[in-house]
Amino acid sequence: MGGSGRRSITDIGWEEFHALPLEEKRPYLEREGGRGEPFHTLFAQQFDRPLLERLAALANRIRFISKRKEGALALKSLLCHKRAMLYFSQPSSRTFLSHLAACQILGLTTGSVRDTSISSEFKGESKEDSIRTFSSYFDLIIMRTPEQGLAEKMSWELSNSERPVPILNAGSGKDQHPTQALLDIYTLLRSFEEKGGLHDRTVVFCGDLLRGRTVHSLSYLLTNFPRIRQVFVAPPQLQADESTFSVLRAKGVEFETSENLREAVKSADAVYMTRIQDEWDDAKGDSAKIDTSRFKFGAGELALLPEHGVIMHPLPRRDEIATCCDHDPRAMYWRQMRNGMWIRAALIAVTFGFEDQITEMPL
Ligand code: ASP
Repeated sequence: MGGSGRRSITDIGWEEFHALPLEEKRPYLEREGGRGEPFHTLFAQQFDRPLLERLAALANRIRFISKRKEGALALKSLLCHKRAMLYFSQPSSRTFLSHLAACQILGLTTGSVRDTSISSEFKGESKEDSIRTFSSYFDLIIMRTPEQGLAEKMSWELSNSERPVPILNAGSGKDQHPTQALLDIYTLLRSFEEKGGLHDRTVVFCGDLLRGRTVHSLSYLLTNFPRIRQVFVAPPQLQADESTFSVLRAKGVEFETSENLREAVKSADAVYMTRIQDEWDDAKGDSAKIDTSRFKFGAGELALLPEHGVIMHPLPRRDEIATCCDHDPRAMYWRQMRNGMWIRAALIAVTFGFEDQITEMPL
């Protein structure tokens, strides 16, 4: 145990830590001396409602403060003594750029590796050694990798090294995408701020719910809010599985599965569309054999969506949302993307313990 009785990731061996249920890992990943905010951000399970609302409030403040030149300069001076490494060994545009922009807002200098074929990994260096190398030069590692447990393993390794720098998971395999879920929740909080708040709502997920990591993380985060019904609309082969449903059952969350998007849209407060994640196909072309034609949002669905409803998508989209929906005021996906930059800036600020300084800055 840490001196204050706090559980620390350095008090527990890797096997034991790894075997813990996700909800029990949170205290080990918190910032020392903080108020429950993460040091390492790995899973959606690290965030409860008070923390989500704190982050959303901080993101709002950062957004307002940065509108003025003096405010933007003050924010930039906050973390100008820190450096961030963006290690993205999987394709990304939005997540990469919005983390980069979030770092820039707070003044961090950045470096990146995106193509491991031109790094020493090509010479046979292990990912673990590469990431450990980055920790020599940087104070934060933001990483996206196809390997499911790598971010978790690295956070344990680094915390147990002489340079315990925080790891921020920007997408791990088919598993989790916690910062996407943060921006999704921030978008929902903002969307319903003046419409009664984020409770007693129906959120419809549609598309590849089995392999869509953003769905897994958001479905979990929504359980923090009262009476959010979740509807999972997908072809049977791509329907979410027990790893999602067992959590909802345990938390007493009302949910259902369906193959009828139009029916689900009629009672939706939010529709969260996703693309088919065919990069995970066992054999190339497997997904193309599935009939996904009824799992797309177009003019017909738009006409059925309640007036106050919102359409979301983690992007990139293919044809899951027809472009004719783009100018509808209920289309939230562009704003959702921008929200990502603000909430990621808020997350980085709390990771380094700068929440109070921002809260004290004049608006
Ligand atoms: N950008 C999201 C992700 O990285 C969604 C997607 O790729 O479909 O998971």
